[in-house]
Amino acid sequence: MSSNNLYESTTKIQQSSVQGKACVTCGVKADKMVADHKVPLVVEYYQTGKINTQNMTSVKAVQPQCPTCSAKQGGTLSNISKQIKSFFNLIKK
Ligand SMILES: [Zn+2]
Repeated sequence: MSSNNLYESTTKIQQSSVQGKACVTCGVKADKMVADHKVPLVVEYYQTGKINTQNMTSVKAVQPQCPTCSAKQGGTLSNISKQIKSFFNLIKK
């Protein structure tokens, strides 16, 4: 399973719900805003062991983010994901 694909899985309704809104991180309005999950899916997955599909597809679950901040956060999240994975691997041993 790719955490990046999981993270990027937003519905078209969610994507369209954030268009024309300012980025929650830097306030920029880009031509194409990115729907960002308020609780990043990768974090939710590791916290609960599952993804709440109802929350996941709700427009309330997302916030507008510009492509720049989204890319930055995506990079950070994949790092966190790796750290959490190695943490759980340590526990299992
Ligand atoms: Zn931004």
